[in-house]
Amino acid sequence: MKTFRIGGVHPEGNKLSAARPITIAPLPQVAVFPLGQHIGAPAKPIVNKGDKVIVGQMIAEAGGFVSAPIHSSVSGTVLKIDTIVDASGYAKPAIYIQVEDDVWDESIDRSADLVKIEDRPELTDKEIVAKIQNAGIVGMGGACFPTHVKLSPPPGSKIEWVIINAVECEPYLTADHRLMLEHADEILVGVALLMKAVGVHKGYIAIEGNKPDAIDLMTEKAQAYPDIEIVPLKIKYPQGGEKQLIDAVVGRQVPAPPALPANVGAIIQNVGTAFAVYQAVMKNKPLFERVVTVTGKSLAQPSNFMVRMGTPMQQLIDLCGGLPEDTGKVVGGGPMMGKALINTDVPICKGSSGVLVMNDKEARRGQAGPCIRCGKCVTVCPMGLEPYLLANGTVNEMWDLLEANQITSCIECGSCQFTCPSHRPLLDFVRIGKSTVTGIIKSRVQSK
Ligand code: SF4
Ligand code: SF4
Repeated sequence: MKTFRIGGVHPEGNKLSAARPITIAPLPQVAVFPLGQHIGAPAKPIVNKGDKVIVGQMIAEAGGFVSAPIHSSVSGTVLKIDTIVDASGYAKPAIYIQVEDDVWDESIDRSADLVKIEDRPELTDKEIVAKIQNAGIVGMGGACFPTHVKLSPPPGSKIEWVIINAVECEPYLTADHRLMLEHADEILVGVALLMKAVGVHKGYIAIEGNKPDAIDLMTEKAQAYPDIEIVPLKIKYPQGGEKQLIDAVVGRQVPAPPALPANVGAIIQNVGTAFAVYQAVMKNKPLFERVVTVTGKSLAQPSNFMVRMGTPMQQLIDLCGGLPEDTGKVVGGGPMMGKALINTDVPICKGSSGVLVMNDKEARRGQAGPCIRCGKCVTVCPMGLEPYLLANGTVNEMWDLLEANQITSCIECGSCQFTCPSHRPLLDFVRIGKSTVTGIIKSRVQSK
């Protein structure tokens, strides 16, 4: 099996919920929709307090080209437009909707009938991209980059492949795994639509070797799609990083920013995004629900749910038996790249792949000691950076040095922190340094 070449680590998988089929989470009493749940300009509300809305109705329009509209996942009455603390820990403007009944937009095809690509031969590449844009689809692996923007590569780039990220390399998370086991046919149509949208004749679906049942099923189903190949990969974190995935699957390396995967001929999409693309294009269904893993060693029943956006995470934790007494922290996402939540009222958004309840023991960090110059953080960094240097540079506010040492290439994978024998909080420092340097570069460009 193939894998990427530089760095990487092997955290314990802990896929506790892998055998748990996706169940439908009950509707919340109040659904909350932050307006900035994607990269780019926040969406702009197009509803007011007191308005009645139905499931699938657009409630906020895109705030620009690099943005995405937001659709209601529930029917009911707009309570207010206020703020809510989201998974980032910051208060963001949001639309609150009091849930009443479950009335759907009639144009959404709610049947389970599979619509194949050959059933809609008239669909053009432009129509596919427009439907994806109108449905508010963003990268569902957590990056939340608007999908229609990725499908509009910069002029001059020649796209050769669509690569589907189904590696789910974050420990604990099983949402993508279950989606493949339960919706393989829809995913394959979604991949075919993405390929048609960018005019390529080769698609890959990359799956790590710890999901043999998904590899077998997808390989069997893909027999009907000669242009789509299933690629089993060795287990190694962070294989889901775009650059690592491209290296693992087609052996090309993406240069440092601002270079994009498109510059080496690849478009990467998450497997959940491929499913959402199927639903948007073939079923006229905007992105308003997703699969979420709720898990943790002390949780009574780790599970996978199909959840309407805007549902508070606490409601999902309650469905799994409630917060255990020994809870140390609750993380939005997985243990490597996820962020600790300030409270559990945070609503599920488009990028919410998981909720991880860590017990005291797991949540406790080792006492940070001095750097012993072992070089392990350098060896495991998948971007070839020197994390100890980047962390020190941040502490000492040496922004020029950080820029010169490519801190903006950091993918915030946490491999350095995971491996440091002195328990140094490398990722925390590198994140601060990266956001400061990114801000400096942006203001320099704007002042020119
Ligand atoms: S420096 Fe960034 S890319 Fe490198 S290991 Fe640390 S978090 Fe990952
Ligand atoms: S892994 Fe930790 S101790 Fe080793 S060089 Fe990096 S920062 Fe220093």
